[in-house]
Amino acid sequence: MDHFDGSLRQAGIDLHTHSTASDGRLSPAQLVNKALEAGVKLLALTDHDTTDGLKEAQKTARALGIRLVSGVELSVRWNRQSIHVIGLDFDPKGRCLTSGLQRLRRLREQRALEIAEQLERLGITDAVSWTSEKMKSAQITRAHFARLLVQRGCCRTIRQAFRRYLEPGRFAYRACNWPPLTDGLNWINESGGHTVLAHPLRYGLNTSSLIQLLHEFKTVGGDAIEVCSGSASRKEVGLCAGFARRFTLKGSIGSDYHGDTQSGRPLGTPFPFPASIEPVWEVFN
Ligand code: AMP
Ligand code: MN
Ligand code: MN
Ligand code: MN
Repeated sequence: MDHFDGSLRQAGIDLHTHSTASDGRLSPAQLVNKALEAGVKLLALTDHDTTDGLKEAQKTARALGIRLVSGVELSVRWNRQSIHVIGLDFDPKGRCLTSGLQRLRRLREQRALEIAEQLERLGITDAVSWTSEKMKSAQITRAHFARLLVQRGCCRTIRQAFRRYLEPGRFAYRACNWPPLTDGLNWINESGGHTVLAHPLRYGLNTSSLIQLLHEFKTVGGDAIEVCSGSASRKEVGLCAGFARRFTLKGSIGSDYHGDTQSGRPLGTPFPFPASIEPVWEVFN
């Protein structure tokens, strides 16, 4: 059994959050202000496939006295499965990383326009121009389209929008050929950062596939897994801690905050971080 150290190690740490640079609701500055209110002392902004929000977040964090490390949530592919890898505390100017992010931007833009075309067929007649406009300032995800479907009265809730239109097999779903897992890990490693497998239990993998994923993640240079993540229950935290120990991976903590109840937890959610796990943040510069 794990001893849950409810005091120092997990207090005020949130290493998985989103802003308007991707599908979060708050601007980077608003997010950092909110983090201060929530008692967060160590924060990472980890937008989907972009580091565009980091400058503004860093400026605000300095002004408010919060420690902010660079972050990103990369979309990668493993065995035809879409996987999220969090990069932390890297140099945002890293050459491989910036070209990798350009590649991801092109993939996202292409997919977003394909989804928008489907939404036009569903009667949202300005979906393509809406998307083109949105793309100028944010990395577009399916969450943006879910919100659009709700705003335009096509669905009552975000959940319903995903279920009816945006999940695999649905009318407006489009798969994306994300770069391989190894590419994402290399980009972060080459820019001096640390890699975390995000929300390991949210990929719908059976235990043997998950074990295979964790084995490969470790073998190709992965550093940590999100032991405490967004919607994870105490039991799931224990399960992830077990995986971390089995594969000698470090552990991370993140709310996956998006600024609303759409997904993730409140910012800075105090998670019980198992004392037996080595925290990924102890090695930050
Ligand atoms: P994408 O990376 O474009 O496929 O979009 C993934 C994003 O959509 C996630 O980061 C979540 O913010 C959101 N998302 C995915 N599935 C759901 C769901 N069932 N309910 C609410 N949000 C979801
Ligand atoms: Mn998201
Ligand atoms: Mn994710
Ligand atoms: Mn996330």
